[in-house]
Amino acid sequence: MTDRQIVPAPPDTVAVAVAAVSDTGGRPNNEDVAIALALPEAADGGNPDYLLAVADGMGGHAAGELASRLAIETLEKIVRGGGDDAADLLKRAFRSANEAIAAAAVGDAAGMGTTLTAALLRGRYATVASVGDSRAYLLRAGGLTQITRDHTLVAEQVARGELPPAAARTSPQRNVLTHVLGGRPRLEKDLPPIYELTLLPEDRLLLCTDGFHDVLEQRDFVDVLRQATPDEAAARLVALAKERATTDNVSAVVAVATPTRVAAAPLPAAAGRGVPWQLVAIVVAVIVALVVLVAVVGGVVP
Ligand code: CA
Repeated sequence: MTDRQIVPAPPDTVAVAVAAVSDTGGRPNNEDVAIALALPEAADGGNPDYLLAVADGMGGHAAGELASRLAIETLEKIVRGGGDDAADLLKRAFRSANEAIAAAAVGDAAGMGTTLTAALLRGRYATVASVGDSRAYLLRAGGLTQITRDHTLVAEQVARGELPPAAARTSPQRNVLTHVLGGRPRLEKDLPPIYELTLLPEDRLLLCTDGFHDVLEQRDFVDVLRQATPDEAAARLVALAKERATTDNVSAVVAVATPTRVAAAPLPAAAGRGVPWQLVAIVVAVIVALVVLVAVVGGVVP
């Protein structure tokens, strides 16, 4: 006999809808991969988990496509294998993906690598991991926040206060990466960084590759994300990048959180709130009567 009590978890307050679009954009072939998967449903019949990811491969002779595909396949395999701790699961997946790419980087594929940005959504909890310069953004209450930090030379210079953020956007070195998957046989031990957030109803999460960075402004992301379904938003962002002549592949994964229950506590009856108007009227009448009485008495008896 134990005195521990099992407290049921609160029901999820958000459900999630997701979509992924990847396009060659301004290039003949696509080295990006983007996924938005519902994982097998929970045994209790609750909402499924979702795995979202974008990968942007690099390397000659189709090696970039191989690297991004290996990263996504390894990620999916490890995450489908399951694990209670989302951060540990993503770290393990990134390490395995790095090893798989490094092991395959021989012959024509020597030197290949890829970025990988992934989000595991469990109920209202989102766990994000990223290596490279693909990004995760959160749109909440009309404000767009970049969740991930780029592994680029210029981002590190900005973090050290050596370069203004505006200069980083136009620097000729803006595409120089400091970390990728596959670059070394083992991933550095502090990688990938993990970012955790709790989704609120109406939040929008965006994962995207760097094909957008040069051609879309923050307000473009806000305008498209806030008024569209995930499918429409992902497709519209990609179309917009192409209209603006991106020279790169473009991939967008969008998740939208919607409320699953409404806090419908009944409003108290009107009569029960505040001070009744009759009481206010009586108090005002008494005060007026007193003022008049004082004035009259004051006038008669100087
Ligand atoms: Ca790219």
